[in-house]
Amino acid sequence: MEGPVLFYSTNLQATPVSFSQALLKGQAPDRGLYMPMTIPVFPLEEIYGFSRKPYYEIAFAVARRFLEDEISDQELMAIMRDAYDYDVPLERVYDRKYILRLDQGPTASFKDFAARMMGRLMQYYLRKENRKLLILTATSGDTGSAVANAFYGIDNIDIVVLFPRNEVTPRQRKQMTTLGKNVRVLALDAKFDDCQALVKQAFADPELTSLNLSSANSINIGRLVPQTVYYFYAFAKLRDLDHDEEVIFSVPSGNFGDMMGGVLAKKMGLPVKKFVIATNENDEFPRYLYSGNYEKIEPSRNCISSAMNVGHPSNLARLVALYGGMMDEKGVIDKPADMETMRNDLWSVSITDQQTRQAIADAYQQYGTLLEPHGAVGWAGLMDYLRSIPEEESKGQLCISLETAHPAKFPEEIEKIMHIEPNLPPSLEGIDHLPEHIEDLENNYKAFKNYLLTSYF
Ligand SMILES: *Cc1c(COP(=O)(O)O)cnc(C)c1O
Repeated sequence: MEGPVLFYSTNLQATPVSFSQALLKGQAPDRGLYMPMTIPVFPLEEIYGFSRKPYYEIAFAVARRFLEDEISDQELMAIMRDAYDYDVPLERVYDRKYILRLDQGPTASFKDFAARMMGRLMQYYLRKENRKLLILTATSGDTGSAVANAFYGIDNIDIVVLFPRNEVTPRQRKQMTTLGKNVRVLALDAKFDDCQALVKQAFADPELTSLNLSSANSINIGRLVPQTVYYFYAFAKLRDLDHDEEVIFSVPSGNFGDMMGGVLAKKMGLPVKKFVIATNENDEFPRYLYSGNYEKIEPSRNCISSAMNVGHPSNLARLVALYGGMMDEKGVIDKPADMETMRNDLWSVSITDQQTRQAIADAYQQYGTLLEPHGAVGWAGLMDYLRSIPEEESKGQLCISLETAHPAKFPEEIEKIMHIEPNLPPSLEGIDHLPEHIEDLENNYKAFKNYLLTSYF
């Protein structure tokens, strides 16, 4: 074994730290994002061996390579077994084209995968150091519920979620507000960007240092490590047992944390031929990939795949770093990345709302596969990619498109397009009738700071 992995900041002005320090800090002090200095690589035989393991054991094997020396194998395995106690279905659509359904967790989006590992690891380290943490999270819907759910009832951690009152669906809201205990939920008459700005200002406020603030958004490296695992899992379960082969993944992307998990998995040895990176009409990434020029979209465009309405994805700084370049937190490229290698590994396309709706209808009518708007962006992107390559290459090629939420979480579009109502997964049942706890917050920093100081100081 090579010893513990250290994490550097993409802005290169902060001291490298261990995984647990990066996890508890969230953002690096120089406002960069933490990245592993060395990337552990799995021999192909070990990846093939994952085909015989349950999900939580693969999660253990992957996480262990980053956390070595910081937690015992026994404790790490117990955390993984507890975090991943739900199904991870792979659904065949046609030929060797599959949907990976990441929607069986307690809040029915893929964000459960990261939040559940992260919450448990944070609890472990905080207990060991006898520390407390106050997590602030701004949400446009899915992060807030996944984090609130994963951290609910955990000692040593309090959570405050800020959300734009009019921009989350009633089901998304209830997944946060029906919890109580250590979870407080603040509704603002504001946009998601305003909520995020308040949270960022609080992180930078020296008068709040004693509150031990941290972040559970995808700037935290603790979300990336768990998001490499399902790529290993899906490949190992579906690969051709008799031949070596490479897989194509399609990833519907917004803030690019999901995609970064995949790219990291490839660097760890997973045989990936290509990542299809599908965005909605917020097309800053495909433009960047093919031109080398990066321009954020302000304000972001409102699309039906609402969790991907991001005009400046924070994880791009990590991708640029991985390909030898440097991008600061404002999106300025100080050193260009190796775009040729990046284009070799990634293919990207922007999918309009019109195409998203068409993909939902087509997948259902042709194959009986039910998608929601985010997964439909990924599927439409994959279909575009396969049309762009010769048929003899696409036929028989193993392709896996990620479905990032359960259709019942976004029933409105599905009902409009196909006049059917998606069945509720058990995790969403009964939630409509539970009492809600919501506090109102004025959209200004003084009010927010005052709230934090009177509630937690
Ligand atoms: C957050 C989210 C995404 C986008 O994931 P990123 O890691 O931000 O790219 C896609 N689909 C759903 C349902 C989400 O909640």
